[in-house]
Order: sequence, then structure tokens, then C-alpha cells
Amino acid sequence: MNNPVDVVVVGAGPVGLLLAIELGVGGADVLVLDRLAAPSTAIKGSSVGPLGAEALRRRNMGPALAEAEDRAFAARGPAGASMRTQALRSRGHFAALPLPAEPAREIERRMIWVDQQGIEAILSARAAALGVEVRRGCEVTGFEQGDAGVTVRWTSPEGADSVTCAWLAGCDGGRSVVRKMAGFDFPGAPASVTMYQALLDLDHPERLPRGATRTQAGVVMNGPRPRWLAMHDYSGPPADREAPVTREEIEAVLRRISGADVRVTAIDQANRFSDSARVVDSYRRDRVLLAGDAAHIHSPLGGQGLSLGLVDAANLGWKLAAVARGDKPENWLDSYTAERRPVAQAVLANTLAQIALSRQDPQSLALREMFARLLGFEAVAEHIAGLTSGLATRYDLGSARDEVGRLIGDRAIGGDGTSLFAAMGDGEGVLLDASSGGTASEWAAGFAGVRCVRVNEGPSMLIRPDGCIAWAGEDAPGLADALERWFAPRRRA
Ligand SMILES: Cc1cc2nc3c(=O)[nH]c(=O)nc-3n(C[C@H](O)[C@H](O)[C@H](O)COP(=O)(O)OP(=O)(O)OC[C@H]3O[C@@H](n4cnc5c(N)ncnc54)[C@H](O)[C@@H]3O)c2cc1C
Repeated sequence: MNNPVDVVVVGAGPVGLLLAIELGVGGADVLVLDRLAAPSTAIKGSSVGPLGAEALRRRNMGPALAEAEDRAFAARGPAGASMRTQALRSRGHFAALPLPAEPAREIERRMIWVDQQGIEAILSARAAALGVEVRRGCEVTGFEQGDAGVTVRWTSPEGADSVTCAWLAGCDGGRSVVRKMAGFDFPGAPASVTMYQALLDLDHPERLPRGATRTQAGVVMNGPRPRWLAMHDYSGPPADREAPVTREEIEAVLRRISGADVRVTAIDQANRFSDSARVVDSYRRDRVLLAGDAAHIHSPLGGQGLSLGLVDAANLGWKLAAVARGDKPENWLDSYTAERRPVAQAVLANTLAQIALSRQDPQSLALREMFARLLGFEAVAEHIAGLTSGLATRYDLGSARDEVGRLIGDRAIGGDGTSLFAAMGDGEGVLLDASSGGTASEWAAGFAGVRCVRVNEGPSMLIRPDGCIAWAGEDAPGLADALERWFAPRRRA
């Protein structure tokens, strides 16, 4: 028998782990359940976008992230140094068309080169240090919602079990059972392409060109990682998503796209996925919330899913903790869907556009050529980089149009984590107070969870625990409304 908890998180992937950390620092009881007995070793992305990395830095994981990135470059041997130089200048690509590099990209605007397994290891260590309970080998099979809470059921090698919670968070990936069982609508574009990623050996690797081979049938990418192969097969969506990927299937697709006459002699890993692009109509149904791939799916083009999901968790965690503590009403959670769904919709749209630009028919090729030329214009390159990196994200918090008011809804930049983020590690919001005589701090003194930091240069800013600028101004007007909206009055002792 399990004691009731505030929140059950289904899924100990990156999004579930960060959500559990956010709930833990926010003072909620949380239990994480994952069906896998050990963290996944499946190959996924090799980097995380700037906003996702920032979500980790805000919670004291900056040093671990920096060390993991150093290790990742060192592991490449002598090539690691030049890879680091290139990576630190890169703005990424759009449909494999490289965006022009910059002389140097500051840490708050660049990808961080730690793979998904490395990110999950950092999150697992932080969750453990906070005392968050992660139970592995537990496959959630059902739940019932009542007025008072949700009863969640699972099976594990020890047998069937259940727990009651006030809130259930589905962070259980693209095929989320929580999403399906709770009856969320999941509209969007159906799959049109089958994609593969594999680690394998070929009998005649010299017959397959290194780098990208593009034909009307699809794309084959051979390397740069040793034994790594990716394919986009334009002949249609996967016939059977659940069927294991076989050597014969890979050989046939490889031959059809590239013409290479090779045999697969060994497969370590092989995944099949698609360009299907869907997002739930609302991120909450009663007491059930979704985050990460459970809420939205899209192709991995541009490497955006991990960061998108991590920022979902950062946005939801402190809000759900405040509701679980009884500091805010349930309908306060509506801001989660209002802020995060448009961001997911924009990612879906740009991944679909990348698929359209990747096709090799004459019309698409002409479009691709025009688009490649457009990317040479700095304003276009920066606009596209803003989309794929997430840096263009702004929440609509009713920002004013003047220079200072425009900051509202944007994110506060913490640099390498030594200044602002150091003040946010325990999950509090921050008031950067540049007001004369500290009047802004006096306003904030009546609210819990806001740390006041005096600064010499304005504007003053109220920063939510997820790094979003809730208010900015030279003086106190508007601050009182923002404090009311995002924080709770301090309770009398
Ligand atoms: C081939 C590939 C390459 C990618 N490359 C990139 C990239 O370069 N950059 C990038 O940003 N993103 C990339 N992505 C996307 C990224 O991997 C996902 O967006 C990310 O994993 C989403 O995290 P999540 O925690 O939401 O879901 P997941 O990582 O899928 O985690 C879900 C967890 O839920 C658990 N679970 C599922 N069902 C149950 C259940 N019933 N009971 C209990 N537990 C359950 C699973 O075991 C799993 O641990 C890639 C994806 C793929 C497939």
C-alpha cells in the first residue's frame, strides 16, 4: 500500500525527471514511475537547445552540464578541439541547409553538446539528490479520476500496485498511454515519410558514400559518428510502427534510396519514426496534465523535441507545485496550455516545412535552392535560428510595446549561471530591483517565493521561477499586478 502523494509523474525520461525536480523544489510530494528497469540507452539527439539547457542551469545543474560537454568533445580525440570550435559558432541547420555560422555564439544562445543519455544522467542525479522517488520497472496500466484525486495503477515484477494522487502528469513519450486513457484530442498532420536511425555494420562500407546522399526516393546520411546511419524514405509512412526493424528492411530501403549494394552484418540499435506532427488540444484535462512528447510529436529534424519538452516541464512544475500547496487555484494552470501550446505549434510547423524542403522532386528542389539563397540574408538566418533554437519564444503576458515593456514574456538570461541562476536554484522567483530607494522590494516583501536582489542598472524585473520575465519597469506600477498574478501572499507565521 502506498501513501497518497501530491503528484504522480508517469515517465522518467528527461521531461518527467525535470518536472519531478521542479515539483520537488516547489515543495510538492512527487512519485515518478517508469516502465523501464534502467534508463534507456537508445540513440537519440547529441545536443540540447539553449532554453532546455537553461532550465537545467536554473536548478544547479550548470556545472554538471559543462563537464559533460567537455567530456563529449574530449571523447572525440584529436578531432574534438575543432569540433568544439565549429559547434560553438554554429546556428544549426534548416532541412540540412546550414545556417551561416557566427564568430562566436554566447552560451545562452547556443546548443549544448551533451547527448540525451547524458542529460538524463544529470537529471537523475539531481532528482536523487533532492530525494525524489523514481520507481523503475513500473508500467502504468490505468487510472481513475474522482473529485478528490486520481488513483493510478501499475504492474511491476513485484505484481500490481496503485497509489492515489491529487494530480497525474503524463510524461510518457510520443505513444503516451496517459494521453490515450484520459481521452485528449490529438489533432495534426499524419505521417508521410518513414525515417530510420541505426547503429550497424555493413559488409562493404566503402560502397556507401560518407555524408548525405539525396535522391528522389529519399536521403541517406552515413556518419559522421562511426557506424551511424540515418535514412528518410519518401515512399510513405511506416506500414507497421510496432514491428521491429530488420536487417532486410534497412538493406531494401538503403538500396532503393542510394542504389548501394550492401548487406547489414550486425545491428546494435535501429529505430523507425515518422514526420507525423500532432499536438493535444489542451495540455490539461481535469486532474491530468501532459508534458513533452506526450503532448506533442513531430519529426526530429532540427533537434528540437528535447528542449521543447524540458521547457514544458519548467513551465508546468512551479505552477503545479503552487496549486498542490494550495497557494493558487486550479484554473491558474490554464496558463500552462496558453503559454506552451503555441510554442509546440510553431515547432510542428517548422518541422513540416523542413520535410517539404527536403524532398527531391523538381518543384521541391527549386524551392530548396531559393530557400538556401534566402538563408544567406542575415535577418532570415537569425529568424530561422530563432525558431529552431526556441530563442524566439515569447509568452503573451500582455506586454507593452515600449522598449522595457517588450521584455515581458521574454526570458531572463542567466549567462553561465554564476549570477541570476545562482539565486534561482531553490525554485524561487527573483525580483531584480533597480528602483530608487528599493520601493520595488517593499512591494514584493508581502509575497512568498520571491527573492529580492538589488541591482545598479535598470529596468527592474520580476522573474518567475521558470525564468520568464513577468514584469519589467523603471518604477513600481504594474509590479503589484504581476506579483498578485504569479505569486501568493506570504502566510502569517
Ligand atoms: C531518433 C531520434 C532522434 C532525436 N534527436 C533529437 C535531437 O537531436 N534533439 C532533440 O531535442 N530531440 C531529439 N529527439 C526527440 C527527443 O528524443 C524527445 O523529444 C525526448 O525524448 C522527449 O522526452 P520525454 O521525456 O517527453 O519522452 P521520452 O524520452 O520518450 O520518455 C518517456 C518515458 O516514459 C516511459 N513510459 C512510457 N510509457 C509508460 C508507462 N505506461 N508506464 C511507465 N512509464 C512509461 C518510458 O519508458 C520513457 O522512459 C529525437 C528523437 C528520436 C526518436
